[in-house]
Amino acid sequence: MQILTGFVLAALIAFVAYRAHSLTRSGAFAAVVVGGVIFGMGGWQWAILLLAFFISSSALTRAFKKRKAGLDEKYAKGGRRDAGQVFGNGGLATVFAGLHFFYPDAQWIWVAFAACLAAVNADTWATELGVLSPRPPRMVTNPAREVEKGTSGGVSLIGTLAALGGAALIGVLAAALGGPASAPQPAAWMVGVAVTLAGLLGSLFDSLLGGTVQAIYHCPACNKETERHPLHTCGTTTTLKRGWPWLDNDFVNLGCAIFGVVVALILV
Ligand SMILES: [Zn+2]
Repeated sequence: MQILTGFVLAALIAFVAYRAHSLTRSGAFAAVVVGGVIFGMGGWQWAILLLAFFISSSALTRAFKKRKAGLDEKYAKGGRRDAGQVFGNGGLATVFAGLHFFYPDAQWIWVAFAACLAAVNADTWATELGVLSPRPPRMVTNPAREVEKGTSGGVSLIGTLAALGGAALIGVLAAALGGPASAPQPAAWMVGVAVTLAGLLGSLFDSLLGGTVQAIYHCPACNKETERHPLHTCGTTTTLKRGWPWLDNDFVNLGCAIFGVVVALILV
């Protein structure tokens, strides 16, 4: 019954998000799967963490749409999230919610779930709020080098503080909502600190991948670096500049979530 309710609620939210242009059609179907499993097999505490990520990141994308308008050509996709983005951001968290259904007493599953969402939330907040930085970002692999805003692998102080805020939101909720209540388990504050730190480090790992092995393209017409492929926003075919061709932004987000989980589990 809870699973059915979960899918109905997820479908309602996905429909609203689709109508509000936060999700594409494929993104809305993916959100029903992700939301349905997390609501239905996890429970309301798990749903609250997912909603905190989904609502805060969609709101930030919307709020800073104008400021990011000139940067749209750099990012792999526009403001509407498609299935690849939904699974890249929420796929691993969905797996942990499913695991919880079979191992309801395992506290580490809650920590791992929260760490996934903390990492992708931190990364989204950093991307959306980083554009407010008055100074150009610097490459995470070479801090002496300033790069254009929106460049994969670029980091700024404001972006990093935003990542900390995004991670802390999930960390505080993870500590407050606790997850499965069984002894022995780490104290709530430890869960909060571990999840927050995991989120921050996960988003920095995301930048590291963006600055090294993520597929980055070049538009010969605009002479600009971009994540877009095969076509740039101007319509020209982009060519691979660096990185592994298969490692697109969605896989980088998954890598960010995996790294966050590893950090959180080591800490707890
Ligand atoms: Zn172009």
